[in-house]
Formats: sequence, structure tokens, C-alpha cells
Amino acid sequence: MEAPAIFTEAEVYQRSFNPQEYLKAFYTLTDSRGQPNAFLTKNLKSLYKMFSLEGLSGQTLVDVGCGPTIYQLLSACERFQEILALDYTDQNRRELQKWLKNEAGAFDWSPVVKYVCELEGDREKWAEKEENVRKKVRQVLKCDVTRANPTEPVSLPPADCLLSTLCLEGACKDLATFRSALRNLGALVKPGGHLVLLTVLRETYYAFSNQVFSCLYLERSDVEEAVGAAGFDVRFSEVQPHPPGDIRVDCDAVLSLVARKRDPGTG
Ligand code: SAH
Repeated sequence: MEAPAIFTEAEVYQRSFNPQEYLKAFYTLTDSRGQPNAFLTKNLKSLYKMFSLEGLSGQTLVDVGCGPTIYQLLSACERFQEILALDYTDQNRRELQKWLKNEAGAFDWSPVVKYVCELEGDREKWAEKEENVRKKVRQVLKCDVTRANPTEPVSLPPADCLLSTLCLEGACKDLATFRSALRNLGALVKPGGHLVLLTVLRETYYAFSNQVFSCLYLERSDVEEAVGAAGFDVRFSEVQPHPPGDIRVDCDAVLSLVARKRDPGTG
């Protein structure tokens, strides 16, 4: 497997990203050979840790590049009252809505929800948590992180927290685009509000069901510098190595990062 010759930007997602295949490939707790999905469980633990940090709470959280997934909202939903989910791709927003509305054929997130409830101390609360996520996600909107106003023509009021998992490195073809996307997203956050990122490091592609998607090759310092240049101070940054030998991806590690937006005039 190797990276596509031309970087697969948003239109390629719209044309060929299959949400159900993506979920099957990356979001079951055990893979087709019965091996535990360490990529997922490490990310769930990181999200749990980040959303336990002091001050990481408030009224609104915006999840950018949500895809068809909800795992990233499971710890977050305990700390925020309302969630807005944004993604470029119609079929991904539709797949997410299917789960939110409890429709037939929706992905079964319950093993993942139970895992997170266990991390949080009570596995039995999983049904309550599912209900909580369904209640708190108020809107699912189209966005493009490469636009100055990602939700154009809609203007969102600034949020208390902006979350983005495994999106920007797939959406941005080069470091300049990545840096400007972070500035675009930064504008969606209140001063003093937070940015929570889960970003793959040193990856050039990821693949599932015969589709290969590009990934911007990033070092930890690239991400931290871009976050700083977008007006944030990094509060937490942790790298989890990704063991080699995964045929789905060529990533080396995952970076978990929390940053706080500076007040204008102090930075
Ligand atoms: N957050 C999910 C999905 C990641 S897959 C997870 O953690 O698994 C990458 C997502 O980025 C896809 O849903 C794709 O539709 C979205 N995406 C790609 N380009 C984008 C762009 N320019 N603006 C917004 N979203 C984009």
C-alpha cells in the first residue's frame, strides 16, 4: 500500500468515502481476527484524560470533521451541554444521524460506549450515556475546514470548545493549508475556550475496503506550532506510539493535544 499520487481532498471524500466500511474497519473493539483494536482504545483513553482536565467544560462544543463516528463525544458529552457536529461529506453526516435517531441499520456503538463507561467508573451507565449523546447533539451541519468561515453560509456563535479527531491531517494537503485550517477553526472558539485535537503523526495514507486516502505527514512540532500560531496556548500534549505492522495505516503515533485560546491583546 502507498499514498495516493494526488492528495485526496474533500471532493474525494464526498465521492468515495464509505462510512459503513470505515466504521467496520476502525471502530469495532476487536478486529476480524479477534485482535483488540488498540488504536481505538488508546484514543478513547486519551479523550477521557483530556476531557477530565480542569476547566474543560462549558455550554457548547463543536466537533469538526465528525465523520460517521460518536466515540469522540463519549467523554466530552459529560462536560458540555450542547454539541454541534460538522463534516464535509453528506453520507457521513447521514450515517451519524442514523445513529442519533436510533434508526435501523445504524452502527452498533454499544461496545465502545460500555468501554468508555468502564473507564469513567461505571460500565452500567452505557445506555444513559447513549441517551445523553443523542440528546446533546443539536445539529449536524456541513463544513469545510479550508474555508475562512468553515460553516458558510451559516455563522456559528463562538463555542466553548472545539474538538477535532483525525480530520485535519486528511483534509489538508500541505502544512500551509493545515495552519490556515487551524486559524479558521480557531475563530469558532471563544477567548479562554479550548481546542481538543487527536492527530495522527507521520502518516501518509490510510486505507479500508480498497479505498486509499491521503494523510498530511506531520511531526508533533508542526502541530504544536500551528496551534500556537492560530492563537492558542498548549496546555496538554501527549504522543502515543502506534505499533508498526498495521496494514490499514502507515502512521507512527497519535498526538493528543489540548490548547486554550488566548485573549486578544495578550498574545
Ligand atoms: N472524526 C472521525 C472521522 C475522521 S475521517 C474520526 O475520528 O474517525 C476524516 C473526516 O474528515 C471525514 O468524515 C471527511 O468527510 C472529513 N473531511 C475531509 N475533508 C474535509 C474538509 N475540507 N472539511 C471538513 N471535513 C472534511
